Amino acid sequence: MSFFREEFAVQWPAIRVRFGAGVRHDLVAEIKRLDCRRALILTTPEQVSVAEEFAVLCGDHVAGTFSRARMHTPVAISEEAASYAREIGADCLVAVGGGSTTGLGKAIALRTDLPQIVVPTTYAGSEATAILGQTEDGVKTTLTDARVQPEVILYDAELVRTLPIAMTVASALNAIAHAAEGLYAQNRTPLTSLMAVEGMRAFRDALPRVLANPDDLSARAETLYGAWLCGTVLGQVGMALHHKLCHTLGGSFDLPHAETHAVILPHAIAYNARAARDELRPLAELFGDDEPGMALHRFAGTVNAPMSLEDLGLKAGDLDHAADLAAKNPYWNPRLVERDAIRRLLQAAWSGDPPVA
Ligand code: NAD
Repeated sequence: MSFFREEFAVQWPAIRVRFGAGVRHDLVAEIKRLDCRRALILTTPEQVSVAEEFAVLCGDHVAGTFSRARMHTPVAISEEAASYAREIGADCLVAVGGGSTTGLGKAIALRTDLPQIVVPTTYAGSEATAILGQTEDGVKTTLTDARVQPEVILYDAELVRTLPIAMTVASALNAIAHAAEGLYAQNRTPLTSLMAVEGMRAFRDALPRVLANPDDLSARAETLYGAWLCGTVLGQVGMALHHKLCHTLGGSFDLPHAETHAVILPHAIAYNARAARDELRPLAELFGDDEPGMALHRFAGTVNAPMSLEDLGLKAGDLDHAADLAAKNPYWNPRLVERDAIRRLLQAAWSGDPPVA
């Protein structure tokens, strides 16, 4: 297997990344390293106790906490949080949580240019990208801006132990999706392909161990390692049909983010395998089937991943509209995005059937 390409361009952002169970206890040292002294701690309302723990960890380096991060980063909340950051004189942000909390930190950084320390507690991978999705008046838009790229990431396996099993599985497949689409991205590089394969390998090996024992710190650490690799791929290369479908289903039908990724992934990869068989071969080999879509479908079955869009709340009557939207303004994709073929893909995903090529 070779990922050599005759032409490619690479630009890496300067991000400090630390791994280690308990690494959050070095938070003050990391804040000082940024030459900061007044951190604003961010979480969701569900993780308010984590914000309290982090306030204690920060000691006299905490300026305040804001625990109202929400899925899809509503602009009104970001504006409020940015005003609060200015009001309390915060000089850095500490975002502890999944993609929603990281998104809030990025949205504040966009408005204030404050440096960010992110402590991820899911596998979404947003911490490794300069991408921010925001919602206003029910419309989700995405931007890429160097100001939103977090400066420091602390991966602490102890914090991901509390992630419920269903969320663990869905979030892992969300991460695998970044790597899978990275394999055929037009602007992939040898490094992104290597990271994609190692990221998927980490999940393939460690996720079953996490399911057997959610408190297994070594297995949790390996899944976080996979999340970092897969998230870095997302931050480096363009995504295609799979992410477009999930963006459409999440944005227009309000389906849950990670679960939608989990359901769609085998179907989108099966769709693209016809046009990107060689690029997807490492994935097929990793998950042990000649057909990459079937390989992921089988893996999803072994980890009890969500399999059907109907179970996520999509109505059968929405499938036509979803296919229309997904085929409109498609992202670049290795295979032509044909509306009727997408409709068939969505039907299989809705019913929980194996993917159709
Ligand atoms: P999330 O951040 O919305 O978290 C889901 C729920 O799980 C929340 O209630 C959260 O508090 C809780 N939770 C998180 N970690 C936990 C833990 N360890 N223990 C217990 N509860 C925990 O979910 P997500 O899937 O991580 O993020 C989804 C959001 O991230 C979406 O809005 C998506 O668009 C965005 N995202 C952005 C990027 C990017 O690069 N911009 C990448 C991936 C995802």
